[in-house]
Amino acid sequence: MKLSDSVIKVKGIGQKSAALYEKLDIRTVGDLLCHFPRGYERYEKPVLVSQTEDGTVRTVEGVLTAAAKPVAVNQRRMVVARIRDISGEMDLRWFNSPFVLKQLPLGRKLLFRGKISKKGRSVSMVQPEIYTEEAYRTRMRSLRPVYSLTAGLSHNAIAKAVSEALSVTEVPDSMPQAIRKKRGFMKLEDAYRAIHCPEDEAVTKEAVKRLSYDEFTRFLLSMRHLKAGILREPNSFLMEKHTCADGILQSLPYELTAAQKRVLAEIMKDLCGPYPMQRLLQGDVGSGKTVIALLALSMCAEEGFSGCLMAPTEVLARQHFAFFTKMLEPFHIGVALLVGSQSKTERRRMEEGIRSGEYPIVIGTHALFQDSVEFPKLGLVIVDEQHRFGVKQREMLMRKGEMPHLLIMSATPIPRTLAMMLYGDMDISLLDEQPAERLPVKTCVVDRSYRPTAYRFIREHAEKGEQTYVICPLIEESEDSEGENVTDYARKLREEFGGEITVGTLHGQMNGKDKNEVLSDFAEGKISVLVSTTVVEVGINVPNATVIMVENAERFGLSALHQLRGRVGRGAKQSYCILMQGNESEETKERLSVLLKAKNGFAIAEEDLRLRGPGDFFGIRQSGDMDFAVADIIRDADMLSAAKEDTALLSDAEAEERFHLLVAERDSLVVY
Ligand code: ADP
Ligand code: MG
Repeated sequence: MKLSDSVIKVKGIGQKSAALYEKLDIRTVGDLLCHFPRGYERYEKPVLVSQTEDGTVRTVEGVLTAAAKPVAVNQRRMVVARIRDISGEMDLRWFNSPFVLKQLPLGRKLLFRGKISKKGRSVSMVQPEIYTEEAYRTRMRSLRPVYSLTAGLSHNAIAKAVSEALSVTEVPDSMPQAIRKKRGFMKLEDAYRAIHCPEDEAVTKEAVKRLSYDEFTRFLLSMRHLKAGILREPNSFLMEKHTCADGILQSLPYELTAAQKRVLAEIMKDLCGPYPMQRLLQGDVGSGKTVIALLALSMCAEEGFSGCLMAPTEVLARQHFAFFTKMLEPFHIGVALLVGSQSKTERRRMEEGIRSGEYPIVIGTHALFQDSVEFPKLGLVIVDEQHRFGVKQREMLMRKGEMPHLLIMSATPIPRTLAMMLYGDMDISLLDEQPAERLPVKTCVVDRSYRPTAYRFIREHAEKGEQTYVICPLIEESEDSEGENVTDYARKLREEFGGEITVGTLHGQMNGKDKNEVLSDFAEGKISVLVSTTVVEVGINVPNATVIMVENAERFGLSALHQLRGRVGRGAKQSYCILMQGNESEETKERLSVLLKAKNGFAIAEEDLRLRGPGDFFGIRQSGDMDFAVADIIRDADMLSAAKEDTALLSDAEAEERFHLLVAERDSLVVY
């Protein structure tokens, strides 16, 4: 089998599951092999019934005190059983699984792993996995991969499919022998195997190293490729006029900060410089990057060129679109929106307007890449909240013009030394200052016993007309993952607030239209409390929201939490961030406490680096923003410097050749 073959060829994947894989953007065998685990779990030591907590996934060892029997409840077939240990009793339930009966003889000592549910004094577990003592001990010594999933696919199913695929697929490896020797790397095929089927921890770590090195190499070579192209081209889009930009500045309700003024000057210098701009704008959340994009794009329009702003999510694209439209209306500059959920007619109307020059500014998501979109004289491309962005996609967008200016805006605060290694080939601007009137967000780290107080706090704010975000790590109840989920949590809050306060939900699996509706209702104040996954992490701006509460805060990286916290504190009112710790660990508490002191994202990233250090393999990954598939900038900092060292030794021609080889191998992985 080849990497380009459809996943449906893999043994065990049929039409139905292929459709599920498609939801995860997995179409080919290559996609499957590169759907890397988000992390690993180790089977933990069994606990006593009396030590379990509601909602957690635990393993309990016990003896069956009543024979397992099949029953029917509300027409659902169920198997029930009861076990006992020295501390108490626990009920077990399985749905639609009559086959478990055979595994459950009376009096046998077994281990059960599943989600604990506690009601009053009764403890139960639904759909637990069943292990013999021996089998569980083996599991405790090994790791199991945790993937991003979609309903209907389990971690095990993916791991199995990968293992099937690897046994029959030829995996070409373009890494030069010399480098493999020098760095002691394993073969690509072995790395895939070890990362998906972790039998030996040390080997898996080696696999992560090899794959991180590859990812960094691809990234560095793509940056170098871009730079080489830029230096060969003159600036064909000179932008010198700024009457309109001056007008916008006049109409803003605030004055730019000193940092914003400095960055704007740097950009303006590039726009009329000898080469196309190639700039990374790094600015902490809330430092005011959007207005910079607005000003640059207005200059582009004023010269008669077209320009575009690409956002990672539709929600964010729409928010930018609303802001741009409002600001540019007095200057008669047309703005178009291109997003996936538009109707065909609307899309066609937008595309025609773009082609005719009616809309010199275009805001959108990946929909901007489509072949049918033609930008006349594309002079400026801005990417907001840089994200996964394949080389091919980037080139497609850049090819829509002739070497347009490029500005990438990022809120990922990575330590300075690492940023220099990654982006050394670009010019870097820093927005290192918050608009002055902002009050720092008051932050606290609490445990679940604080919930009633928190709900009272949220209610009081809602009664004052202020709004709250509640962040949960999961979308819905899941058997193999603990943690709060949006669906049940919203239900719980609605009960708690008894209908006086509107509670809405938002998550990534909702369709574009529903998401927009919820967000605009929230922005207009029709929803007081928004229960959401981290989809609100990137860029949402609702200044009237003053409280954010993050459930299971221990599951997020510090930078991600900092980004989330940046959703509040955007207006003049005092804002609050409640970090709700879902476990009792002191270590977690210490880590989260970094957010109480640190003022800005850069300080937090440095602290994260110090606390975790490179090589903290099982630690939580860096924010999803700097989204490498395997590599973690902080954990794998040593591989970044190795890749930097090795690519620096290549001549320009060699670098170019390697780059094209890598792109041919896999186009979608390079991050930009
Ligand atoms: P980010 O850098 O996170 O993208 P935004 O561009 O969304 O930040 O700006 C956050 C908020 O700050 C917006 O409500 C914006 O209107 C406001 N803002 C931007 N610049 C200033 C400024 N110089 N003074 C006051 N408020 C500002
Ligand atoms: Mg932003």
